[in-house]
This record gives sequence, C-alpha cells and structure tokens, in this order.
Amino acid sequence: MNFVNQRPSRIVLASGNPHKAREFEALLRGISVEPLPPGFILPPETGNTFFENALLKARSVHEQFASMSDVETPWVMADDSGIEVEALDGRPGIHSARYAGEDATDVDNVEKLLWELKGVEDRSARFVCVIACISPEGEELRADGVFPGAIARRTRGSTGFGYDPVFIPDGFSLTVSELTAEEKNRISHRARAAQGLLTQFGGGDSQ
Ligand code: IMP
Repeated sequence: MNFVNQRPSRIVLASGNPHKAREFEALLRGISVEPLPPGFILPPETGNTFFENALLKARSVHEQFASMSDVETPWVMADDSGIEVEALDGRPGIHSARYAGEDATDVDNVEKLLWELKGVEDRSARFVCVIACISPEGEELRADGVFPGAIARRTRGSTGFGYDPVFIPDGFSLTVSELTAEEKNRISHRARAAQGLLTQFGGGDSQ
C-alpha cells in the first residue's frame, strides 16, 4: 500500500450502522462520513482477520460505485472490530458480535465471557479496530487501533454497548460503561484507528 498525502472531504462508510458513521465523523475531524446509500449491499464477513473483513466490505462498496456510470466514485472506508482475550488465546476476536450464538445479544455475549473467565487470574484483553479505506482510484489504506485493558469480574456501568460493561481500560479502575462517551472516544480502538488514518492522509495530530 502506498502513502496517500491527500485528505478527502467526504468518505462513504461501508456499514449498515448509521451510528457508526456519526461516530467516525466525530473522530475524522473535518471529513464528512456518509452512511451507505440505499440499494448498496454488504458482503458476508467471511474473512479470517479484522483486516480481511474490513477490506471485503470496502472493496465491495468501492466496486459497486465504480460500476455506476452516472456517479463519481467516492472514498470508501469500512471497519471491523472486536475484543481479544489473552487467556482465551485471542477469542472471541472476529466472532465478538456472535460469541454466544448467531442471535446472541450483548448481554448473552458478556455472560458467556464472564463464565469462561470464571476463576481465571489473567484478565488481560484488548479491543481491536482495523479500518480499510479505498481512494476513488482504488488505492488501499489500512489503519489499526488497539485499546488495551482487562476484563472485570462482573458488569459495571450503564453506557455504551457490547463488552463495555466488563472492559477496564489500562490505567483506569472504571469499566468503559462507567466512562462518558467523550472519555471513551479519546482512547478507544476506533479513535486510535481513525487517528492512524488521518495521519496517512497527512492530517493527523497528536491529540
Ligand atoms: P463491529 O465489527 O464494530 O460491528 O463490532 C463487532 C463486535 O465487537 C460488537 O458487536 C461488540 O460485541 C464488539 N465491540 C466492538 N467494539 C466495541 C466497543 O467499543 N465496545 C464494546 N464492544 C465492542
């Protein structure tokens, strides 16, 4: 992949989740992050890594735009994220959303994780986010963000989603669900990956 020193003014996010577009827009300061337009489809996440899954989504949406003769192909980005637990050899990893089964809720997934870590002393874990971003010309960029911490012994707090109620970031005693969204957004895996992307655009800063 080549270094791109060009900051786009808009990026289409290859995700079915409109909240994610708003979150990335706040993180990618000055770039308009647009949700996937109606009619576009996302491929199944069949990759073996976060990057493979992010790239599958970004390439698919880039190709759908490129096949449309009446629309200029925009920058496209996709992300994939999850939690890796040391004592579980990195599980649930890319399977984080469906850890407790196909239709698992966040509560089911957290319960399963706490059960699997019952009596386990080493609670180290990390959230990981990998972004794949494709320029209108097809140049591919990758940005990784890691958010290290540990799994609590029980859920605490009420904000956030997913594994937030049991994740204690390194240097904190509170879980992510006990932090404000602003605090999380300063240190999260998504914030770090977004910062890495900005740096590749030549627009990063040290915030
Ligand atoms: P996605 O790839 O961003 O949709 O995330 C996959 C899964 O990873 C989510 O369904 C959550 O279970 C978990 N996850 C990713 N990021 C976070 C986070 O910031 N907090 C809590 N859970 C997360």
